[in-house]
Amino acid sequence: MYKAIFIDRDGTIAKDVRYCSRPEDFEFLPAVLEGLRLLAKTDYKLIVITNQSGIARGYFTEVTLGKIHEIMKRSITEKGGRIDAIYYCPHHPNDKCDCRKPQIGLFKTAARDWDINLTESYFIGDKYLDVKAANNCGCKAILIPSEYPELEEFHGHNGFDGKIDVVTPNFKSAALWIISDSIQKLKVTLVIPTKNEADNLPTFLDKIPKDFEVVLVDGNSSDNTIEVAKRLRPDVVILNQTGKGKGNGMRLAFCHATGDIIVTFDADGSFNIKELERFIEPLHNEYDLVKGSRFMTGGKTKDMPLIRRIGNWVLTVITNILFGSRYTDIAYGFHAFRKDKLEKLNLTSDGFEIDAELYCMALKNHLNVIEVASVENRRIFGVGKLRSMQDGFRILKTIIRVRFT
Ligand SMILES: [Mg+2]
Repeated sequence: MYKAIFIDRDGTIAKDVRYCSRPEDFEFLPAVLEGLRLLAKTDYKLIVITNQSGIARGYFTEVTLGKIHEIMKRSITEKGGRIDAIYYCPHHPNDKCDCRKPQIGLFKTAARDWDINLTESYFIGDKYLDVKAANNCGCKAILIPSEYPELEEFHGHNGFDGKIDVVTPNFKSAALWIISDSIQKLKVTLVIPTKNEADNLPTFLDKIPKDFEVVLVDGNSSDNTIEVAKRLRPDVVILNQTGKGKGNGMRLAFCHATGDIIVTFDADGSFNIKELERFIEPLHNEYDLVKGSRFMTGGKTKDMPLIRRIGNWVLTVITNILFGSRYTDIAYGFHAFRKDKLEKLNLTSDGFEIDAELYCMALKNHLNVIEVASVENRRIFGVGKLRSMQDGFRILKTIIRVRFT
């Protein structure tokens, strides 16, 4: 069964002009298109339920109403939103029909047509009769108070005693409320590629939140990396890499990760665990990939010689020219993405260039990407495995390959 967000039209989506009888009188309220764009990314059906007694009153015809709705839907789609269906009641209040809100005839029809579970659905409206309709069919009720006098009835002047789940000032905040109310916390898998990192693991591994899955992919460590990992984090998933390179290991780990969100984390102790939340939070809303940047405001690196800084800058500029992006850091390995986007990312790299490949594939496939500032500390123990010139060249080849194939 599906779930739906039912939405009132006049006073909620559009300015309430009292019987909108011409397409040119239809006007979206502020923040509506932005809110619908956010809701379009959820798996809720988005269904408009509207009383249009103007038809029974002879103010306009169903043909005109159809035209208005076509224009409305087109504008919504153009802005990245979606409306799956529109149900309207054409009757006069005196008709005593069962479809005029607060009656729930239209909700029942929609539920039948779309296989919708009403009790797991929402209704956004601007008047007390909307809240009452939501209550009558067991949906959660979101009220964006109307600028018109019916509001007084909602305030109790007419003995209204319905249940309102939330009152929000505009449509976008209603959308955000629904998203945070309905989306469960996604499961996170932390992927850590290692090779001889036994000394560094104790600096962070036992501080990773307990509800995260931790997948450690080991490239044949000759020290006791695996034993240390198991001691610090008994539920760690250990994968023994058969191929070579960071990218090869990461791709293996991505396949085994069971989380909805995958975060890659270097084992050298240079990443700050406290930044994790900043990477994960945007993925609960509208983003598919959150990448760290050491070179945007608030970011910093304490572990980068000048030659690599210059190399990274050049590669970032080339990426931005080729993809029309605005990245500020192309070769940083701290990022998080939604696992359901893995297929689109179609990663094939074996070496350090996998991060750049991921960032470029995300651009190529029009994923929603955001950069967040990150501070890279100095590697705590041992020496890095990155070879500036060779890996820089591999990254360049990868950027060009992704762009032109
Ligand atoms: Mg209304």
